[in-house]
Amino acid sequence: MSKFISKKLNGLSAYVPGEQPQDKTYVKLNTNECPFPPSPYAQRMARQAAGGLNLYCDPECTVLASVAAEYFGVKKQNMIFTNGSDEVLNFAFIAFCDKDTPAVFPDVTYGFYPVFARLNGVPYKEIPLTDALEVSVKDYLAVKGTVFLANPNAPTGVALPLSAVEEIVKADPTRVVVVDEAYVDFGGESALALIPKYDNLLVTRTFSKSRSLAGGRLGVGFASEAIIEDLKRIQYSTNPYNVNSMTAAAGVGALLDDEYFKKNVGTIVENRRRLTAELKSIGFDVLPSSANFIFAAKAGVSGEALYLSLKQKGVLVRYFDKPRLKNYVRITVGTAEEIDTLVAAVKATLEEKL
Ligand code: PMP
Repeated sequence: MSKFISKKLNGLSAYVPGEQPQDKTYVKLNTNECPFPPSPYAQRMARQAAGGLNLYCDPECTVLASVAAEYFGVKKQNMIFTNGSDEVLNFAFIAFCDKDTPAVFPDVTYGFYPVFARLNGVPYKEIPLTDALEVSVKDYLAVKGTVFLANPNAPTGVALPLSAVEEIVKADPTRVVVVDEAYVDFGGESALALIPKYDNLLVTRTFSKSRSLAGGRLGVGFASEAIIEDLKRIQYSTNPYNVNSMTAAAGVGALLDDEYFKKNVGTIVENRRRLTAELKSIGFDVLPSSANFIFAAKAGVSGEALYLSLKQKGVLVRYFDKPRLKNYVRITVGTAEEIDTLVAAVKATLEEKL
């Protein structure tokens, strides 16, 4: 830190992304990416867009917005496109939280929420998950502030049913509820259909997971026209050109190639089923996941020890140095071969311990 840093950033610890090691090739099951490349059509569209990179990109992502409006069954005025969904989430912290309107989220959830809160100088309240690591709906009905709920939640993978999300949104129309649906395509119930009914709901989605565009950085927010206007005010006050032309084009290709998307999601869901069964058969507890990762623990084995042993064997997973999560590792659901390698490495680790 330099001596020049603004006082408001004192004490800000940045988000720590999952490792992206360059030293050797790992089986990378630590950052919830899709193991499959982007749709060939998305790749072709991005290559074509490269020829126009001399011009600034379209701040409204007009072509992408038309295709997405049709695909998701919403109006263009109800969407904002951003540089990954992290950006729309940050916009929501800027737009809808202040010292009198704290951010509210579970104690175990996406690690970026407290970072966004601190970056923007807004207070936040963490509501503990239940002992089963589930969101308790009743805790969110009367709480004041702007609610952020990842659904399915991360790193647990556990999803709330749509009826529960609606109960929370409906409970207090004077507060904004942000539902972060980064992983919804793998088995959650989306709240998108509630947007015409509730003007206090913001749903965020990403192209990073189910649509294989993590490196492209494309996110989208869906909400009432007024909420979208607020978010766009922030977009145009920071970087109107937040989604580059190649990424917007890749997004169009990804949406138009629905068959490819459905095939990949189907494979991940099947691989998740098998990975869960294999780990349970060797004594792991695995939370019921609706995401492209699982959260697993085995009594007597620390998450950190398992992570280190797997890393040594060439497999990367993620563990969380938090009291309630110490026994767990989060494992991204990869290809069938990656799962075989992971399971073999876990078995070898357990044998070493004996
Ligand atoms: N929400 C959750 C719950 C996530 O796990 C992630 C991925 N780290 C994101 C949002 C952001 O993803 P992206 O910025 O790639 O869209």
